[in-house]
Amino acid sequence: MEYEAVIGLETHVQLKTRSKMWCGCANAFGADPNTHVCPTCLGLPGALPVANAEALRLTVLTGLLLGCDIPGYAKFDRKNYFYPDSAKNYQITQYDQPSTRGGRLEFELDGAVHAVRITRAHLEEDVGKNVHFDRHSGVDFNRAGVPLLEIVSEPDITSADMAHAYLNALVEVLVRGGISDCDMEKGMVRCDVNVSVRPKGSPTLGAKIEIKNMNTFSGVRRALDYEIPRQIAAVQRGETLRQETRRWDDVAGITEPMRSKEDAHDYRYFPDPDLLPFTPAADWVESLRSLVPELPLARKQRLASQYGLPAGDAEVLKSNPDLCALFEKAAEGYPHPKAIANWVINNLPAQLAASGLSISNLRFPPAHLRELGSLVESGRISSKIAQDVFADMFATGEAPAAIVERKGLAQVSDTSAIEAFCDQAIAANPGPAADFKAGKDAALNFLKGQVMKLSKGKANPGLVGDILARKLRA
Ligand code: ADP
Ligand code: MG
Ligand code: ZN
Repeated sequence: MEYEAVIGLETHVQLKTRSKMWCGCANAFGADPNTHVCPTCLGLPGALPVANAEALRLTVLTGLLLGCDIPGYAKFDRKNYFYPDSAKNYQITQYDQPSTRGGRLEFELDGAVHAVRITRAHLEEDVGKNVHFDRHSGVDFNRAGVPLLEIVSEPDITSADMAHAYLNALVEVLVRGGISDCDMEKGMVRCDVNVSVRPKGSPTLGAKIEIKNMNTFSGVRRALDYEIPRQIAAVQRGETLRQETRRWDDVAGITEPMRSKEDAHDYRYFPDPDLLPFTPAADWVESLRSLVPELPLARKQRLASQYGLPAGDAEVLKSNPDLCALFEKAAEGYPHPKAIANWVINNLPAQLAASGLSISNLRFPPAHLRELGSLVESGRISSKIAQDVFADMFATGEAPAAIVERKGLAQVSDTSAIEAFCDQAIAANPGPAADFKAGKDAALNFLKGQVMKLSKGKANPGLVGDILARKLRA
């Protein structure tokens, strides 16, 4: 029998706020242990939490980015458990009435667009970090109380590659929306991977295995590449899989049992008596809606349809909003946007890197790119000369036509001038000329190169080829 994988992801993302979720301590990475702490985030008895307004705003904005409903009433609950990294012995989270519900994320994989439904994105808090030394352990509470968004997907994902693509797309949306920096190195994104298998096409779900706390997307893919065949082999042997939590061993490349899965009632969730419910006003939510930017995939699709750009170009511009904005300003009303895209994608980044300038302080206005494009299009300069004009324009900000004028770069299409260069090249290179006459077509390119040199790159290359061939065949 053939089996298929069913995957749902719970992704935890640290929100980009200045302070923590329930206190004024800095939300900052990399400080000395226990330097960003106070009675509230240390969980000392009697300390009271105050909700971070910016975190609430980012939560609602995330819901809007993902097309979720934003209920007018949400609340905070205590999830009770004992662990040294959470000194108050509970985590504040949103259990049955979260701030957002029911969205979707679209992304591309192998050229096709897939959609995964989002169950909910709810607000909770991060915990401290256990640090283990040779003979003792410590807890760093700097991270305790940092606002975390948990984004839960429906079990719509069907392969390791699809899980990987979903995570990358999610991060791209959250970074674009200004929700989180999603810096993986700093542990800003972590994910629990839920996976089961079932006979292909079966409507019922198999027992779910949860692989906890993955902190790289390549790790997620490798863990699934291990776990899916493991589960399939087990059911094919006639075993019954039971719901459990497993750990990914990145070095060994295997998952191993951690504990049998706990149930919701184990946590004894109850509403946090220290916090008011969150009741966002509808008009405030609507005002946030206007801040939702064009999402990366939608942008890519628009670039392809509006400007006729190939997928590769649209992909580059999609992932680089600054380049994209420049491209769109420069291409406005121009009949050959692809030529503008070539300058922006192929030439500009190298100049930026070499000069240390950034797109925000370019010396030339976007319209100059249109002018440069027209100069090439009309045959006034060759595409080779255009490279030099571009570099000059980048350095000085001068208009391309003015540069061509000043430097005398206009392409020579005057046939008598080209004829003279051709005669000169043939006379100076009797060998290649004879080769061409003897049927070696490649010799023409050599002679063409000589003519271009004599004209300092300004001869119209098409004309040069025609005139040379005519003269040699005569
Ligand atoms: P829990 O309460 O144990 O966290 P949920 O039902 O809330 O479980 O689901 C958590 C995640 O697991 C979600 O992303 C969901 O899509 C996924 N999931 C649920 N059931 C399955 C299953 N049988 N196989 C794979 N993933 C599943
Ligand atoms: Mg879970
Ligand atoms: Zn604090």
